[in-house]
Amino acid sequence: MATAHTLWQSVLGEIELSVSHATFATWFQNTELLDDNEDNVTIAVPNVFAIRQFQIKYNDQIRDVLKKNGLDAQKINYVVSTKGKRTVINRETTRSGSGSAQEEIIQLTPSRAPTPATTINPRYNFDSFIVGSSNDLAYTACRTVAANPGTKYNPLFLYGGVGLGKTHLMQAVGNEIKSRDSNAQILYINTETFVKEFIEMIRFKKGGFSDKYRNVDVLIIDDMQFIAGKEKVQEEFFHTFNALHQSNKQIIISSDKPPKSIPTLTERLRSRFEWGMTIDVQMPDFETRCAIIEAKANFSGVSLSKETVEYLAQNIKTNIRELEGALNQLLAYAEMRGVEPDVSTAEGLIGNVRHSRPQHITSKQIVDRTAKYFQISTIEMTSAKRDKHIVLPRQIAMYLLRSELHLSFPKIAVELGRKDHTTAIHSIEKIEKAIKLDFAIREHVAEIKERLYA
Ligand code: ADP
Ligand code: MG
Repeated sequence: MATAHTLWQSVLGEIELSVSHATFATWFQNTELLDDNEDNVTIAVPNVFAIRQFQIKYNDQIRDVLKKNGLDAQKINYVVSTKGKRTVINRETTRSGSGSAQEEIIQLTPSRAPTPATTINPRYNFDSFIVGSSNDLAYTACRTVAANPGTKYNPLFLYGGVGLGKTHLMQAVGNEIKSRDSNAQILYINTETFVKEFIEMIRFKKGGFSDKYRNVDVLIIDDMQFIAGKEKVQEEFFHTFNALHQSNKQIIISSDKPPKSIPTLTERLRSRFEWGMTIDVQMPDFETRCAIIEAKANFSGVSLSKETVEYLAQNIKTNIRELEGALNQLLAYAEMRGVEPDVSTAEGLIGNVRHSRPQHITSKQIVDRTAKYFQISTIEMTSAKRDKHIVLPRQIAMYLLRSELHLSFPKIAVELGRKDHTTAIHSIEKIEKAIKLDFAIREHVAEIKERLYA
């Protein structure tokens, strides 16, 4: 048998043909076959982020290509290779239980560019999607659907917050099917557009609406929450759904919440949505965020230090769109100024975004704006009066002095004409609690902040 090194070179050569250039450079380039014992195949990968990608995304493919090259691996271990030191981080993950894992293996042909006829973004493919525990179910379901459109999970319903990769995954299904069968009719549409077209059809008696949606092989419909409260559109979509489903055409839906939480969704549509597979997509954990940053930086031809990657991942926990935004900002800034995109540059940029707001706000502004918002005078607010319509604004002003300016309780009491600082403590605690429970208070506070920083 070939030496481990030549065997691995041959495996890599084959894999290089089946994944994008960026994916290969990010994940495969610096790997090595350390142990080619069939019972205990061990592969060294460059960092801890790569381990999970290999386990979830590339394990089956590697096993397959190894087998073609004469090595029937029973178990594949991935370890981080560091100079002189080697840590076994993880064992092989269990194989996908769907039974279709074999079919899901990326076809070993160079990927063709999708035809421009669809509005699908070719950048959104499975290759460029980083998998972690927050999205691995959604990822696996999408791969399964891409391999078995119309037969496996129909409909596939993905839900989760904004910027977490739903559109990316759904479009990846479209891209994958299209690259395999260029004749496949794939229609991607946002629900808002669907609603708009429906209204136009009614208003201008336009024809062709139903045909357009019912004569496709795959219908990908994004942001279904926009159908809430629109009864006629729901009815039309119900018929579209049935027509497609009956002829085993694949339907993929996304929404910001699960079917049962979309308000005013008719019962029959809700039950249809729950026929197939419903999966949530969550915010990736720290390690996955690191992997996403690494991959995206690599894609831009930049290699960031571990500290920079971790700094970004640590500080941006909202969603991936923002994470991407921060990274792009960092890279653009570094290029423009001719500096390194390192931690201190990142700190400067992100620190700016985070700390610039409160600096130019004074306690007087907070008190004045809050009074104005509630249409009372500052004098009333700082007076001894205990009328209900004055007490709440006063408490909110105290809360804002604390949350925005981090003033001490005695200082806050003084700002609002109180002698006793325990009043400030109680007021702030009360608003903190109310914000969690009372929608109206939450709105007041948010609105006042908006105006403060406008
Ligand atoms: P959603 O539809 O859930 O609001 P998107 O699919 O538009 O989110 O994702 C926002 C951005 O983040 C896109 O540019 C997408 O490519 C990227 N993104 C999200 N999740 C991932 C991931 N796991 N790996 C790589 N990129 C991701
Ligand atoms: Mg989206």
